[in-house]
Amino acid sequence: ITDKIAALPPSSHYSSLEFFPPKTSMGFSNLQQRLERMSTALRPLFVNVTWGAGGSTATKSLELAEICQRQLGLTTCLHLTCTNMSRSLIDEALEQAKVLGIRNILALRGDPPRSNEYREEGMPPLDGDHEDEFVWAVDLVKYIKRQHGDYFCIGVATYPEGHSDESHPEKQDPAFDLPYLIEKTRAGADFLMTQLFYDVKAYQEFEKMLREDPSGVFKDITIIPGLMPIQSYQILRRTTKLSHAKLPPDILSRLDAVKSDDEAVKRVGVDILSEIVETLKSTPSPSSQPRGFHFYTLNLEKAVAHILERCDLIPPSTPTPAAIDITPDDDDDG
Ligand code: FAD
Repeated sequence: ITDKIAALPPSSHYSSLEFFPPKTSMGFSNLQQRLERMSTALRPLFVNVTWGAGGSTATKSLELAEICQRQLGLTTCLHLTCTNMSRSLIDEALEQAKVLGIRNILALRGDPPRSNEYREEGMPPLDGDHEDEFVWAVDLVKYIKRQHGDYFCIGVATYPEGHSDESHPEKQDPAFDLPYLIEKTRAGADFLMTQLFYDVKAYQEFEKMLREDPSGVFKDITIIPGLMPIQSYQILRRTTKLSHAKLPPDILSRLDAVKSDDEAVKRVGVDILSEIVETLKSTPSPSSQPRGFHFYTLNLEKAVAHILERCDLIPPSTPTPAAIDITPDDDDDG
């Protein structure tokens, strides 16, 4: 991914699209057709395939990753979580990724670990090999580096917004997270990908905090903002609650005004997301302007297609090898 970004023409922009593995074979077949259309029409720089916490979707995630990387030739970033997973499952996933030709991993923690201090009373102990080895995402980053050197380009997750939910078991606050993000990045992260957000100001402040951090770790690293197209009012309220993403009052009031009309919500949603992309693109400091935008698609096509089109995030198509006019070199006697 970082090589592809470095090779882009100056001042061009790119998109990446995230997909999760469907539960049924019918779902897979529908998604495959959709992916074919989206990859041809939208030309994302890369796609992401999610991983169910604890390895719950391991087989299906690898199946979807195979479709993306092998069958459709898309540069694929496989998500991998490390808590509540055995080391052998992590090893298998990384080996399988290699076999499929995947060179990019988003290294995540997943759900909080179920090791001793987190185990509820009466639960059986975890069996052996992973109890203390993988507690935080940094442990997975270090493990991948140790086992596979520089073979994989590694991304890690970041969170531009905090939350003040006292009932939540974990504190989330960009300043609290910072030392851990520094550690995770120093351990070998090549790029950062953010949690979804709608509050552009919060993202811009977060980005500034990272770039100006005295450690210098984030000075030049690729930070990819994560955006979720608005598919419905209910999904929006649910996902923002789960991810602690704030909905700025102006955005909320525009959506509240049309909330009973699904089509209108989608239309206004495309306007809102397009405005977010354009505002980010024109961040006053050029070095803070993101080159790329990551979209949590929820496996849906239309909203993201409209946003990419409107924001000029679809690169021109390159001719396929068969279409290239090959003039033989002087020494080519074939
Ligand atoms: P970490 O980097 O380990 O951080 C977790 C928390 O612990 C942070 O608050 C951090 O500050 C704190 N922390 C870190 N190290 C320490 C330490 N040494 N001591 C004390 N506190 C510490 N989940 C899935 O299950 N599957 C997916 O495919 C998936 N994809 C995602 C993609 C993106 C872009 C994002 C943003 C999240 C994704 N998640 C996914 C969710 C993620 O697994 C959860 O948010 C998880 O709770 C935290 O993961 P992390 O990798 O950020 O963890």
